[in-house]
Amino acid sequence: MRDLVVIGGGPGGYVAALRAAQIGMQVTLVEKDSLGGTCLNRGCIPTKAYYQSAQMLRSLGQLNKFGISVTENGFDFQTTWERKEQIVRQLVQGIAGLLTANGVEVIAGEATLTSPQQVRVGDQTIETKRILIATGSKCSHLPIPGADLPNVVNSDQLLEQQTVPQRLTIIGGGVIGLEFASIFQTFGSQVTVLEYMPDLLSGVDKEISKRLRIFLKRQGIDIITGARVESISDEDSQLRVTAATAKSTITAEADTVLIATGRRPYTANLNLEAIGVTTTPQGFIVTNADFQTNVPSIYAIGDVIGGAMLAHVASEEGRVAVERMAGLDSQVAYHAIPAVVFTSPEVATVGLSEESAKEQGLDYRVGKFQFAANSKAVAMGETDGLVKVLAAPDGTVIGAHIVGPHAADLIAAAGLAVKERLTVEQVTTAIHAHPTLSEAWLEALLDTEKRAIHLMPKRGAQ
Ligand code: NAD
Repeated sequence: MRDLVVIGGGPGGYVAALRAAQIGMQVTLVEKDSLGGTCLNRGCIPTKAYYQSAQMLRSLGQLNKFGISVTENGFDFQTTWERKEQIVRQLVQGIAGLLTANGVEVIAGEATLTSPQQVRVGDQTIETKRILIATGSKCSHLPIPGADLPNVVNSDQLLEQQTVPQRLTIIGGGVIGLEFASIFQTFGSQVTVLEYMPDLLSGVDKEISKRLRIFLKRQGIDIITGARVESISDEDSQLRVTAATAKSTITAEADTVLIATGRRPYTANLNLEAIGVTTTPQGFIVTNADFQTNVPSIYAIGDVIGGAMLAHVASEEGRVAVERMAGLDSQVAYHAIPAVVFTSPEVATVGLSEESAKEQGLDYRVGKFQFAANSKAVAMGETDGLVKVLAAPDGTVIGAHIVGPHAADLIAAAGLAVKERLTVEQVTTAIHAHPTLSEAWLEALLDTEKRAIHLMPKRGAQ
């Protein structure tokens, strides 16, 4: 009998399996596809490979400003595509190596629960004390006419394509929609984004998402919000996307349409109903604070239980779930989940947005610092954006929001401050190296108390 069978080898499942092995459990991991899950094979990593190519292309267009001239340049998408494939292969092998080195048994195949302590894979049945479901999510289908037409794709399919669409229309101005918009616009597509809500990136601090919208528009991406896509038709081999706005009906033509309207939990063939595992009407598995379902030997983590559908949240839930199985009092710091969006410039947030602070009726102070006043950003030639900080009246840092260069890396410091409920005083008395982008974070913190050094003085400074 195994101690634990983990179903799903994504960032939730493989991290849980490795941590469980470290703790001393006998672990089996079952994966029906490729190790690394959506994140590594069809999500975070391949898109970041493309993102890096896009960043390089973008830099190429600015070399003159840096006094550099190149006589020849070009863009070969096939090489970019193959580089992405190679990066994924390399990282998948890395995970396989880690699992083997930690003594985790990996079984390739599709797992089905045959009892609360039995998992069947093909003709093999594994007996286990506990089962951890980490099967993730898949692209949701948009129930509108034309969604199944050729060249109407989801993000998995767009990553497979080996050509750059001339005209790409994206349905959904969320994280996936905007990352692909930014990448493919740089690769040469003419991009239109149609978003149902009044703002992009719902849930992100509105000042930040509005600022991002300006930057994306300036780069040539056509963005229409308040537009609910209702149908797609094929006319003379051109796709025509029709959306309803408050005032009228609009259409966007395209040769490829990306549907990026969210993801839904993936539990196909697990046999949950027969075993009696409770799910929500949307199909998410219901768990308690121990990540345990209503069937005591069955646990679940990651996208399949809902919440923030992010790879790093799944990994953390995986770690905490197995540590709690082992009797440790581990917790997920849900109040400090960082979220990053790899547009150009990047967006990164942690903690409360201004809107959520207001909704909760909290008093707060805001501090802001523009990258245009940060010497490193000026030297880099990347001055678009700002850092915005929210602090409680007693100085506790409760939220940080960044749009600008390397926002995704900068958010780590803010994440620690929000998680540990550090005060502006505690963080700002840590010396921040000069010249670095992190000084923009320091100055935004100081600005919550009107004492930023590189800002013009404000009335009421202390
Ligand atoms: P999302 O929920 O972030 O965005 C979907 C958007 O589609 C919403 O803004 C919604 O209003 C819009 N929409 C829905 N129906 C529409 C219609 N008919 N017409 C126009 N707009 C419509 O979902 P996503 O971007 O697909 O991402 C899925 C999940 O994957 C998210 O949880 C996201 O956080 C995660 N993800 C994270 C990263 C990252 O961390 N960098 C990257 C990619 C995906």
